[in-house]
Amino acid sequence: MKESAKFYEKLDNKVHCFLCPHNCVIEDGHFGKCRVRTHEKGELYTINYGEITSMSLDPIEKKPLHYFKPSTNILSVGSFGCNFTCSFCQNHTISQHTPASEFVPKEKLVEMILSLKDNIGIAFTYNEPSIWYEYVYDCAKLLKETQDKKSVVLVTNGFISEEPLKELLPYVDAMNIDLKGFKNEYYKDICGGRLSPVLETIKTSAKTCHVEVTTLIVSGENDSLEEVKAIAEFLMNIDKDIPLHISRYFPNYKLSNPPTSVDFMLRAEETAKKYLNRVSLGNV
Ligand code: SF4
Repeated sequence: MKESAKFYEKLDNKVHCFLCPHNCVIEDGHFGKCRVRTHEKGELYTINYGEITSMSLDPIEKKPLHYFKPSTNILSVGSFGCNFTCSFCQNHTISQHTPASEFVPKEKLVEMILSLKDNIGIAFTYNEPSIWYEYVYDCAKLLKETQDKKSVVLVTNGFISEEPLKELLPYVDAMNIDLKGFKNEYYKDICGGRLSPVLETIKTSAKTCHVEVTTLIVSGENDSLEEVKAIAEFLMNIDKDIPLHISRYFPNYKLSNPPTSVDFMLRAEETAKKYLNRVSLGNV
């Protein structure tokens, strides 16, 4: 559904969206980089408000969150669109395209969260929740207003501006944030983003909610122990107990590099464990 967007300003014949650090300046009739926010006659709109492409009751470990309410299930929903263009995206059919979706009003989603058995809350995942902002914010706020103890979880690339992040955090209990590498060139060339805003999101979020971090090790791209060390040191300087999930890459979407070797994964785990208390491997 089309809905008024937050976090923009009007310029001469254009609008400036500052929801994420891309800071798109958008001409009338055009979309921002995320392809879900559009300028129409001086106003900015989001087109994925309440539009759900995927819904499932998942184990919380699948997010992955290993230290937040373990052995429970969480209702997981996603829409379409992303502000990154990762060459290896596993969810490219919803992140880079506009597949069929179903509109679910916020009241209905909250009702489902509350009525579903064996469900601890809601996880906004599958595509990037930060560019689904208005719906995520409205649902999270409404859920918290019910005074039920249900949890709100975000699985995100962390590429969001400070102001919207700080407005959303009071309604968020846990996040898994991707830290895709520790080099800006990698973020730029492989993911279509930038490193420093993601680091800021991790630092800011870790002050107010439970944070776990995932790094996908892509063979031939970011498979260096120096980079793993830099990631682990960065997290250690925030909190040694931040869980780091080191995930193994397999060829997907536009990237055909061979799967990352298990030997490298084991060495990466060993390296990270020198700095962090909670390191685990994924896809191995
Ligand atoms: S949210 Fe979308 S339109 Fe706004 S700055 Fe980011 S990519 Fe651009």
